[in-house]
Amino acid sequence: MPEVTVECLGCGLPRVVRESRLVRSGAGACPRCGYVGWAPSRDLTEVDRRELRELPIAVRGREPAAA
Ligand SMILES: [Zn+2]
Repeated sequence: MPEVTVECLGCGLPRVVRESRLVRSGAGACPRCGYVGWAPSRDLTEVDRRELRELPIAVRGREPAAA
């Protein structure tokens, strides 16, 4: 079963997940920051990472608590 390294789009935490699981249900919530957005490491460039780091956490699409 192929595995793929993904990185949290919130904090950059790397995580290895099975590709089939990633396609079916995503990588789940980040254990460090709780964000649910992940991108395969192979698809992220250094420019992408820098832009992610520079974004304030509030504008990264976190669900409003009161929604
Ligand atoms: Zn994270």
